[in-house]
Amino acid sequence: MLVLVVKLLFVRDTNLYYITNTSNSHMPKKIKFDVFLEEYDDISTLPADSQTLINQAIKACQSAYAVYSGFSVGAAVQLENGEIILGSNQENASFPNGICAERVALFAAAAKYPAIPVLKLAVAAMDQTSDWTDPVYPCGGCRQVMIEYQLIQKSPIEIIMYGSARMIRVAHSVDMLLPFRFSAKPMDNST
Ligand SMILES: [Zn+2]
Repeated sequence: MLVLVVKLLFVRDTNLYYITNTSNSHMPKKIKFDVFLEEYDDISTLPADSQTLINQAIKACQSAYAVYSGFSVGAAVQLENGEIILGSNQENASFPNGICAERVALFAAAAKYPAIPVLKLAVAAMDQTSDWTDPVYPCGGCRQVMIEYQLIQKSPIEIIMYGSARMIRVAHSVDMLLPFRFSAKPMDNST
């Protein structure tokens, strides 16, 4: 009979489980990390500051330099001091030299206010060739940048992924987007 012992550890605001098979000591332990997103089908049900941030992210799409992909992305960062910093994707003929909207906004915020925590980041997109209505998920590189800022400020950053006024998904922490991440000890000892 298979016997499972579940050891539950609370790590900051996240749930990390170690699942150990005690019937066979040669079996590897399993590590389970609960992740979830909140989904909204009506933008008016979000908090007012989140609605404002989404609208700023949509506005930021207008400044994208996306002549190669045709996919304009806007990001808006809300800081603890009330400031909102915008970013948009900036492409380049030498493709690796481009950068995502989320990183443009986060780097600009950190450069201007290095000691002010980030509360929320909203991201939206406009596809020049279609009616884009799916939530925009940050790429892996941006998630790694987000988690580092979250770790050094020691408080969660909420990520709002906008698709349309009837489809918005929210991660209450970057942990929900990047549970097992590269980290530089001892900054991150959660995994
Ligand atoms: Zn990215």
